Amino acid sequence: MSNPRLQINCSKIAENSALLMQILKPLSIDIVPVTKVFMGHPVIARILIDAGATQLADSRIENIERMRSAGINVPIMLIRTPMLSQVERVVTNCNISLNTELSVIRALSSTAKKLGVFHEVIIMVELGDLREGVMPKNLLNIIKETRLLSNIGFIGIGANLACRYGIAPDQHNMSILAKLASKIESKFHLKLEIISGGNSANLLWTVSSKNKNNFNQLRLGEAIFFGVEALEKRHIKGAHTDTVILIAEVIESNRKPSMPWGQRHQNAFGEKHEITDKGDVNQALVALGRQDVDLKGLTPPRGLSIVSSCSDHLVLESTGVPLKIGQEIEFNIDYVGLLSAMTSPYVQKQFI
Ligand SMILES: *Cc1c(COP(=O)(O)O)cnc(C)c1O
Repeated sequence: MSNPRLQINCSKIAENSALLMQILKPLSIDIVPVTKVFMGHPVIARILIDAGATQLADSRIENIERMRSAGINVPIMLIRTPMLSQVERVVTNCNISLNTELSVIRALSSTAKKLGVFHEVIIMVELGDLREGVMPKNLLNIIKETRLLSNIGFIGIGANLACRYGIAPDQHNMSILAKLASKIESKFHLKLEIISGGNSANLLWTVSSKNKNNFNQLRLGEAIFFGVEALEKRHIKGAHTDTVILIAEVIESNRKPSMPWGQRHQNAFGEKHEITDKGDVNQALVALGRQDVDLKGLTPPRGLSIVSSCSDHLVLESTGVPLKIGQEIEFNIDYVGLLSAMTSPYVQKQFI
């Protein structure tokens, strides 16, 4: 296996997924695993299905098509409102989509009709984080119009918080979602199949015994893959937080001064950081750079610190013994780091 590489522990991901299902089942909440951070990798999709997932979700049609080509045939939900230019791919590959625009739902309807397929929609409501969602006062009207469309099934409503402004789920916004749901049920004389409560940032709220949940679905990525809830990054008891590590290789190791010499300008990235003179240090170069991963998402092993980075080099300082040429360094990686490393063609993906 060449470096740098992401080492992905499949059994830890399966165990996290099963644990979350076990926590949420008594609360009558279904988990839809969100595969976007793994770009819809079919290996991950299969692990999740084997661990009990009956449905998957992703934000990008390319990822969903990738899973379909690999023979993944469980229902898949598109969780970003479809692009008008992609409705044909959406109704062909997705069973369900989250929606906020009537014009898009109309296009889904006419395309589904043309292709002789049926497509289900969940309508997202704005609860204050100001990303996707219909304003509550417009919700009944868009549902009324949606229900008139052929080849479209209106199956529920949903919400998403904490992504743009970090607005947390609370008694106020979650009860608005619940009230809207009952209003829809009584006005249209129907029972909503799905009330999709949110993402990994909803977990603290969901499991807190003082809260009454009025939703029956959570769309979870980070909690499954990193063993944390997303709001305060609190560890979920019993879950693995080290399912993925990034391994990279040392290519130079020297005792060097910590102060540069010569006339100083800004660096290759337009930055000019303060420097403190620490005398001579053990400096190592690792073959890993900004073209591979968002380095803010990495934590080095104990005794090593990341001091600088360029396109292709990461500069480490070690307090103990100097690093050896060819030595592999294992970094912990967070959600943001993984999102970037997965999309880099230079980073190998190793499933163990
Ligand atoms: C990414 C995403 C999720 C999953 O978020 P996590 O924090 O990884 O659980 C859920 N819903 C929507 C709409 C998303 O875009």
